[in-house]
Amino acid sequence: SHLAMGECRVPLDMSPLTDQQKEFQQLARRFAREEIVPAAPAYDRSGEYPLPLIKKAWELGLVNGHIPQEYGGMGLSSFDTCLITEELAYGCTGVQTAIEANSLGQMPVIIAGNEQQKRKYLGRMTEEPLMCAYCVTEPGAGSDVANIKTRAEKVGDEYVVNGQKMWITNGGKANWYFLLARTNADPKCPAGKAFTGFIVDADSPGIQVGRKEMNMGQRCSDTRGITFEDVRIPKENVLIAEGAGFKIAMGAFDNTRPPVAAGATGLAQRAFDEATNYALERKTFGRLIAEHQAVSFILAEMAIKVELARMSYQRAAWEVDQGRRNTYYASIAKAFAGDIANQVAADAVQVFGGNGFNSDYPVEKLMRDAKIYQIYEGTAQIQRIIIAREHLGKFKK
Ligand SMILES: Cc1cc2nc3c(=O)[nH]c(=O)nc-3n(C[C@H](O)[C@H](O)[C@H](O)COP(=O)(O)OP(=O)(O)OC[C@H]3O[C@@H](n4cnc5c(N)ncnc54)[C@H](O)[C@@H]3O)c2cc1C
Repeated sequence: SHLAMGECRVPLDMSPLTDQQKEFQQLARRFAREEIVPAAPAYDRSGEYPLPLIKKAWELGLVNGHIPQEYGGMGLSSFDTCLITEELAYGCTGVQTAIEANSLGQMPVIIAGNEQQKRKYLGRMTEEPLMCAYCVTEPGAGSDVANIKTRAEKVGDEYVVNGQKMWITNGGKANWYFLLARTNADPKCPAGKAFTGFIVDADSPGIQVGRKEMNMGQRCSDTRGITFEDVRIPKENVLIAEGAGFKIAMGAFDNTRPPVAAGATGLAQRAFDEATNYALERKTFGRLIAEHQAVSFILAEMAIKVELARMSYQRAAWEVDQGRRNTYYASIAKAFAGDIANQVAADAVQVFGGNGFNSDYPVEKLMRDAKIYQIYEGTAQIQRIIIAREHLGKFKK
């Protein structure tokens, strides 16, 4: 690897972080560089689920950080969990996405679960390294969430679910799912009332997990379709009440977009570091390529983008930690970090020249891994729709 191990990009003693934040950051950084970085190329090739890394990260306290202390968790702030996420992503975003999908699956339960639901479903995640998943997208509807077709019909004290979900991260590894399904059959019923959020045990009869999808990047992450055929869910597993699901599913994003942006930032930082180290080793025309101004300016552009992406996710996380509605900042961070991860990874390939295009070097993987940050958790276009809506809303009288 072209990574200088142990090299630290931010002088820790000068950062405005608390001692505890520095400790988490340092722990995650060491784990990512010593354990994830060396293992990542083989996981990328095999597509195998990185369970040993996830277990180790869980033991170190680097997974599920936001589960409240009442339920056995660490109760970390969004800001703190984002710091950890950035470091894990630096090692491999396939591993980080597998870990982050837990936060996405748990978030509806954290924001909308009752005491008993939280104790049961969040509690077990702190006792064992279990995974969960967020089941919203379907083959026919991703951005247009209100168009999902999976139906849940109330029969006695249960709901009976039929439908198909697609692109579910941790789909084949989850112990339980957050599921969004339509409970009101009337097509005129507004989205804010038509859908219900459920917690579903993954071993419920009638659940069929599809094959592992072969994706462009983040290949060790487990992405699958899931079919629900007459799956019975007890009414105790409804979040808040029938009809409340759409708001819960969308509300989770205010909390989960900042860490997705942090993941994209970690990938961009990795690409920047790899390109910098390479530019300080490779010579052309009698000098290091870093000494050609055109190459050094590519590095300068990378620096600008990585620093600003970091500030954007930290702002978005800090806003939500202040208890304020952060939708605007979360979408700005997610859109910006997702875009710059792609630009910085592509530029890192450029700095590596022919070697950049080859899988013996680390940057082609980063370029493949980066693309998904403009797609999942709301596409680049959907983020701009949200930002424009939030912005214009402040001006409209
Ligand atoms: C690897 C991977 C992991 C994923 N993990 C999960 C998961 O764990 N849980 C889950 O529920 N989902 C997951 N998803 C689904 C993901 O969130 C969706 O793929 C994404 O939201 C886009 O939806 P879509 O694929 O249906 O694209 P579409 O919504 O069909 O969009 C197609 C294109 O049209 C654009 N577009 C759509 N509507 C508009 C509009 N109004 N204005 C402008 N442009 C528009 C989009 O930006 C996009 O470029 C995952 C996807 C992948 C690939």
